[in-house]
Amino acid sequence: MPPTFAEARVDLGAIRDNIATLQRTAPRSAVMGVVKADGYGHGMLPAARAMLAGGATWLGTAFVEEALELRDAGVAAPAVAWILPPGAPLADAVAAGIDLGVSTPSLVTEAAAAGRAAGRPARVHLKADTGLSRGGVVAEHWPATVEAAARAEQAGELRVTGVFSHFACADEPGHPSIAVQQEAFDTALRAAREAGLRPEVRHLANSAATLTLPDTHFDLVRAGIAAYGLSPIPDLADTGLRPAMTLRCAIALEKRVPPGSGVSYGHRYTTDRETTLALVPLGYADGVPRAASNAAPVLVAGKRRTISGTVCMDQFVVDLGDDATNGHGEYAVLFGPGDSGEPTAHDWASVLSTIPYEVVTRVGPRVPRVHV
Ligand code: PLP
Repeated sequence: MPPTFAEARVDLGAIRDNIATLQRTAPRSAVMGVVKADGYGHGMLPAARAMLAGGATWLGTAFVEEALELRDAGVAAPAVAWILPPGAPLADAVAAGIDLGVSTPSLVTEAAAAGRAAGRPARVHLKADTGLSRGGVVAEHWPATVEAAARAEQAGELRVTGVFSHFACADEPGHPSIAVQQEAFDTALRAAREAGLRPEVRHLANSAATLTLPDTHFDLVRAGIAAYGLSPIPDLADTGLRPAMTLRCAIALEKRVPPGSGVSYGHRYTTDRETTLALVPLGYADGVPRAASNAAPVLVAGKRRTISGTVCMDQFVVDLGDDATNGHGEYAVLFGPGDSGEPTAHDWASVLSTIPYEVVTRVGPRVPRVHV
């Protein structure tokens, strides 16, 4: 039984509407909802269904196992899994109609073998490394890779349904690598065409490119963070996106303490007057990192506070001054959409020198996701 003090409330209507907003931003492209990592911490299956309700026609995962979970739950929409480590269940993926994001030349051979084993062509999206230097086939090996894929296609072992790549710096508008990657992608597409491949979907744009680089939308945009209502570019105006997750936790106890009380491990906070301390039973095991100690904002009873002292594994303390709430079901709101004065995941990201992706995905498994 998970404890009931904390909850990550997930507004599925916001996810649905965010996808619709992105579809309006990329009107001539299909939209893929990226649901890897448990839907960026929001709950993969409800998030996937909300995205499909909002008009997404594709789903994206990192691993085949995640996509298989979608299929097991009856989600039949086209889905691509793009990280295929050694031992990935490729034949199961093919049998379940999951598309494989193929990012090495040898995976073409393995996908074709999986197609033979499953008795139906493997559906493959060839990934070009256009400059991220992460997954993807580098330019030198791209011509041989598309030719091998074309041969396997002719043999009926696979079908190239997509060609794609991924940006390194789309969240930094004007970054010189953006144009370089676009050009490299055009070159990769030309080579694929010359090899006789006719993919249904060419795709390059992540959330940042969907929002700011219309030239990169091609047939499909892959939206992760923006679908959850968080902009990948913090100061981008008027995105129309609504953050879907609110993380909050009921206060477990309050007590008056005298001035000079050292608070939490290491006494990194000391009260400067008689005051009320509130205990919030949520800690670094739940995704509130120690780096939030004495730093991250929370909203309690309508007032912004800062976490007082060191964040522990299961709890942290907030100094409420003379504003005792008496613990009658009062919540500490860590982050949410921001419209009731609570901090946002962006606020947390800036305090923690990270990105909102990390803030929402690391909310731990003890925190129930409550879908509303
Ligand atoms: N496409 C690929 C290949 C990814 O790895 C990711 C996420 O990292 C995305 C799309 C979605 O990115 P974003 O959440 O920035 O939209």
